[in-house]
Amino acid sequence: MKIGLVDADLLDGGTRHPNLALLKLAGFLNDHNIEFRLIESENEDISEFHLIYISKVFSFTKDPKFFNRSQEEKKGKESRFRWGGTGFYALNENEMGFRQYRSVDMMQLENDPFLNRYPNMRDGKEMGISMAHQMPFYDLYVPYIEKRIAAGRKKSYYKDYLQYSIGFLTRGCFRKCPFCVNRFENRILPYSKIQWFLSDEKDEKGRLKRPYIYLWDDNFLASSPSIWRPLLKELMETRRPFQFRQGLDERILAESPYGEEIAELLSQCKYHGDYIFAFDNWSDRPKIEKALKIWKRYNKKETKFYLFCGYKLNSNDDDLLLKDIKEIFYRIEVLMKYGCLGYIMRHEDYHNHELQNIYVQIARWCNQPAFYKKMSFWEFCYRNQTFWEERTLGLKVTPIKSYEEFIVDFNNGYYTDKKISLPLKTIISFLERFSSHKKELLRLFNLRLRDLVNPNLWLKSE
Ligand code: SF4
Repeated sequence: MKIGLVDADLLDGGTRHPNLALLKLAGFLNDHNIEFRLIESENEDISEFHLIYISKVFSFTKDPKFFNRSQEEKKGKESRFRWGGTGFYALNENEMGFRQYRSVDMMQLENDPFLNRYPNMRDGKEMGISMAHQMPFYDLYVPYIEKRIAAGRKKSYYKDYLQYSIGFLTRGCFRKCPFCVNRFENRILPYSKIQWFLSDEKDEKGRLKRPYIYLWDDNFLASSPSIWRPLLKELMETRRPFQFRQGLDERILAESPYGEEIAELLSQCKYHGDYIFAFDNWSDRPKIEKALKIWKRYNKKETKFYLFCGYKLNSNDDDLLLKDIKEIFYRIEVLMKYGCLGYIMRHEDYHNHELQNIYVQIARWCNQPAFYKKMSFWEFCYRNQTFWEERTLGLKVTPIKSYEEFIVDFNNGYYTDKKISLPLKTIISFLERFSSHKKELLRLFNLRLRDLVNPNLWLKSE
């Protein structure tokens, strides 16, 4: 018996994280000495496998070439493919259809007839896999990674596969954001205990192979204090730096009577990397500001906010595009005042509009702190142009000019014999399309962190 495991997102080039469901499935197979391996290319000969499990997180990921879903659906029980993961149903707009698919999908491996032939060696149930209890097999991707490194990729590119223990301490949410796979969930419940996924494996020098932890919890802080308080304590007791990868819900600091306690506890943690929260909706501004006043009093470390955008954009909806872009910058303006970073998270709908490249350029600026901290969005776009003129054309140019100065050059014919770089072209096309909003857009595109940051906002008691 040989089992093939497929990370469809990886095959389609769309991820830099291991697939946790596959790691756990591999852990179960490993517990039973059942032969398995990761299928590394969609052109592979898969005839050696008796069963193939395909997992897909992102809905934009294409199915592997060797898998034709509709044909396999016709074969029903005879199919040797098993497929699951949010990528197969996240876009289902029908509530009943979504709920049904999700509830089947969430329990799919636990109900798998093949896996249920084997006893559970980890707890949680007698036969088959318990996804919460199963220790992941963290080396699943190692042969693939070794080949990529041998082919020239840097090892650091694969750090998410190699340096972390990974799990969910809690699952669920109550916010019901319409774009989220948790949109019909109501509550947050405990899921795994840390020791169920914490790797203590050491290298030949006796150092932990996986010194960090990352957590996929949907909304950890929104769980009840009887859940988050002991879990945070346990995380601290591991003495390993940890990180909540999906971002934490900053609004809870403003909403909860325990907001100050959460801010204080989180600030005492060995947090790995930046603290990441989410500022998904402009309408949350009052709560986010209230929470930031608490957070910044306790925390000196870099704080970043995911900025969701592009959702429900269609090809001719200029009004929504303008509103969406403005609201990105309104949120950035708040973050800059509090000395925080933004990180653009685009919903794939952003592709639908012909001016979609504005999102790409905003992300290129905002998601790279070195640019975001030093220059405005306008300056970033203009600097791309002058950088090209200096490097490629060998010209001596003024690195930064205002939009008005650029227009003077443009009208004087300076650009007649020069191409205009894509970032500059993009921002100009956007300003032209929305010329009646140009004044406000230019104000937003010229926001700079160093002009706006104001410690009095959080240091002064109100
Ligand atoms: S707060 Fe986060 S996890 Fe909860 S529904 Fe919204 S996007 Fe999903």
